[in-house]
Amino acid sequence: MGKKRLLVVGAHSADFVWRAGGTIALFTSQGGEASVIALSYGERGESGELWKDPNQTIENVKRIRHEEASAAAEAVGATFRSLDLGDYPLTITDSAMEQLVELFREWQPDVVLTHTPADPFNPDHPTACQAVQRARLLASGAGVSSAFKRIIPPDLYFFEPHQPELCEFNPNTFVDITPVMEQKRKAMECMKAQSYLQSYYTELASRRGNHARRIAGMEEVKYAEALQRTLPWVVKSL
Ligand SMILES: [Zn+2]
Repeated sequence: MGKKRLLVVGAHSADFVWRAGGTIALFTSQGGEASVIALSYGERGESGELWKDPNQTIENVKRIRHEEASAAAEAVGATFRSLDLGDYPLTITDSAMEQLVELFREWQPDVVLTHTPADPFNPDHPTACQAVQRARLLASGAGVSSAFKRIIPPDLYFFEPHQPELCEFNPNTFVDITPVMEQKRKAMECMKAQSYLQSYYTELASRRGNHARRIAGMEEVKYAEALQRTLPWVVKSL
């Protein structure tokens, strides 16, 4: 059996860091391989600090965002690639969809993480979610033999949005990221264009750790990330 593979798809280059950095680090520290795909660099909507420079250019913002995200991905043991489709608005063209489906076919992930289907504060996050769900289905078919090469349907989780209640986020999976919190911190420090989020997401991990302790009675959980599993479990025993 090969290594387990995790595919993380965000609308913007930094999304994976805040929402799933710990989960990715845990996955790779346990021997799995992780690939982070950003559909865009978030160059317009999520790079406000960089645009304070009056001489800033879109190409330079993309370059900086690429460097930051690559370093952050490395800090959690993953590879980073952006499809550079543009943000605000993020548009999924036919060829972008083909690229995504091909990614699923090539990488054959066991687990996929992406945004929630709803986000009243960001037009790109739901677009990314929809694209990922569609690509996943196009690559895996209907669970039966098809006219095309198909992959085993990967598990699909939504990672936690910034305002969970307003995005209809229902956390039903808590990942204990205590052993890799230092890696998540390092990844967050790479995102200089959004440095104001670092303490926020450290506090959130601590609060989710509190919830995880209460749910499972595991006193050792100091930090956790919440996810929403979207498919039923299929098990051989309880
Ligand atoms: Zn985003």
